[in-house]
Amino acid sequence: MRLSTTVSTIGTILYGGRRRIGYMKAIVADPVGGRGNLKYVDLPVPEPGDGEVLVKIEAIGVNYIDTYFRTGFYKAPENPVRLGNEAAGTVVKGGKGTNWQAGQRVAYAMARGSYAEYALVPQHFLVALPEDVSFENGAAVMLQGMTAHYLAYSTFPLKAGNICLIHAAAGGAGSLLVQIAKIAGATVIGTVSTAEKAQIAKESGADHTILYNDEDFVAETKRITNGKGVDVVYDSVGKTTFHKSLDCLRPRGLMASFGQSSGGVGEIDPLILSQKGSLFLTRPSLGNYISDPAEMKWRSSDLFQWIEQGRLKVRIYKIYNLADADMAHRDLESRKTNGKLLLKP
Ligand code: NDP
Repeated sequence: MRLSTTVSTIGTILYGGRRRIGYMKAIVADPVGGRGNLKYVDLPVPEPGDGEVLVKIEAIGVNYIDTYFRTGFYKAPENPVRLGNEAAGTVVKGGKGTNWQAGQRVAYAMARGSYAEYALVPQHFLVALPEDVSFENGAAVMLQGMTAHYLAYSTFPLKAGNICLIHAAAGGAGSLLVQIAKIAGATVIGTVSTAEKAQIAKESGADHTILYNDEDFVAETKRITNGKGVDVVYDSVGKTTFHKSLDCLRPRGLMASFGQSSGGVGEIDPLILSQKGSLFLTRPSLGNYISDPAEMKWRSSDLFQWIEQGRLKVRIYKIYNLADADMAHRDLESRKTNGKLLLKP
């Protein structure tokens, strides 16, 4: 792409009348829409306000949610739209009321605007990044790793004896969830679209894999569980898997519909949950599972510790230049990626 559009008016729109420290490169969606609407622009580096920390970004996590903000499927209040929800880097300076020091290594998720050389981050989203966790691994696990953590430890707390079905098991969230479900002691069935991805899911620890484009994943799940069904389905695929996923559950099992990479699920009649075995359905979101700082510390420090201990392997699919964010979106949406995509400023 390498669009280098200097749009000073965009800076004014995004950062209002704030004092500027300098200029930076950033990606915005202007306006929301296809990948061609991504622009590589010069924006002011703003002075941090109260409770905000200015972070120099070293590695940026690419997530499916970024495509939703790009297209307008998820609404952002500003236009043009800042993109990116995850990064790792070093603190430049903190605004009033913050307690972070210049030079500290940090990582964060869920603060939009990380497709840039610098980002203003509300301090409650930041965690300290241990010395032996690289910026790349830090940026790779904050959003999808904490998601996998809450799904496996809070939404349905897995334990030995449980069996779960994880869709897109070689994907970003999926490959971390497979590993964390194994750490929690569960048996894992993973669905994937290709034999190569099945191999990746097995390397992550999946006990069984199903090629859900070629095989009937309901029949296969029933076969593997001797007709009983699984305790929980973790479904990030949505439209093409949702209803069949309900058929994979045991009576009173839990459906965690946490994403929609194939499209939105649409309307659901709650009666269907009764007919299929008094099922539980939840549509969880990371924000509600890290709003308590102690919870966020628990999840992120478990992840960093597991990485340090070699129990959690971070699979980086590819690192793209920030200017090539459109290529990262193209690859993610074309379903050919596995593991994590990163951008480098
Ligand atoms: P992934 O790395 O999982 O990429 C998407 C994967 O979904 C593909 O690789 C593909 O795997 C599978 N897929 C199935 N059908 C399609 C399709 N029609 N188009 C594209 N992909 C398809 O992405 P993420 O891990 O970043 O996110 C997955 C989903 O989870 C997203 O909807 C995201 O928003 C959501 N999510 C939700 C969170 C929450 O807290 N609720 C947090 C994090 C992510 P295969 O080829 O094997 O089928």
